[in-house]
Amino acid sequence: MIAVSHYAVFGHPIAHSLSPRLHALFAAQTGLALDYIAIDATPEAFGDALRDFFAGGGRGANVTLPHKAAAFALADVHSTMARRLDIANVLTVLPDGRLEADSNDGIGMLADLCGRRGVDPRGRDVLLLGAGGAARAAAFALLDAEVRTLVIANRTFERARALAAALAETERLCVVRWDALVSRAPFDLIINATSAGVQRAALALPPSLVQACTAAYDLSYGPAARPFVDWAGCAGCAAAYDGLGMLVETAAASFERWHGVRPDVNAALEKINAGNRP
Ligand code: NDP
Repeated sequence: MIAVSHYAVFGHPIAHSLSPRLHALFAAQTGLALDYIAIDATPEAFGDALRDFFAGGGRGANVTLPHKAAAFALADVHSTMARRLDIANVLTVLPDGRLEADSNDGIGMLADLCGRRGVDPRGRDVLLLGAGGAARAAAFALLDAEVRTLVIANRTFERARALAAALAETERLCVVRWDALVSRAPFDLIINATSAGVQRAALALPPSLVQACTAAYDLSYGPAARPFVDWAGCAGCAAAYDGLGMLVETAAASFERWHGVRPDVNAALEKINAGNRP
């Protein structure tokens, strides 16, 4: 009999998650026997739910909103990236039984942005909207990718300042109040790491942020990315993308971490896109 290994994604809410479908596609591609389920846990129930899952034989888990900080706190060991961010989206049971926390959101974003979309942030002037967990991962990744300048704007200015302090970067980084965006010169790349689109809220962004070569990227995907992608098109961006590719890249990185096999990301993305076509 083939032994089936157990994996899960934890979040609240989680019913919308594409992760179970992606890991099933990767398992089919690679011929591995595994199950991967979505587990809805409230913040109060998350710790117990996670412990029960691993006590019951779980080998690894992805973690999404609102549990990324709690996942980091519950782990025994932390990757360098998780320690930089103080949050985790991947948990792995190590051979000695300890639980390892890692964050691959930044790597996933760059893999999609540079590798698939051909938008290399190196040497570019970049505007990052948002200062939550995803923005934090994006900011570290963008500085690592050698942007020329990084400007961060967030609805709650103090949160943007706290993110800038964590980034500990003086030369290339500045934070601006949202209403001061109107007086900024245009950017080469604008990244939306807010969850405004999830709430169907449009961001108040001046078109003067855009020049002919500007690319726009929303970490959200599907309908949640629509308002920002539409704004980017109307404002004259050269290209605008949503974050579905990032999601598939991070899922693939988790799969590779757990199983030691790199799945075919483009084939999985094609299947997900085909399923979403009317
Ligand atoms: P958080 O809750 O940690 O942060 C939300 C951010 O959005 C905050 O900066 C918040 O500002 C801002 N925000 C929320 N509503 C509005 C609004 N109406 N107007 C302006 N700003 C707003 O969420 P995450 O950082 O974890 O996630 C952000 C987005 O990124 C989500 O849509 C998520 O789905 C997406 N994401 C995509 C991934 C992928 O693989 N493609 C991976 C991870 C995240 P404030 O501080 O003022 O509250």
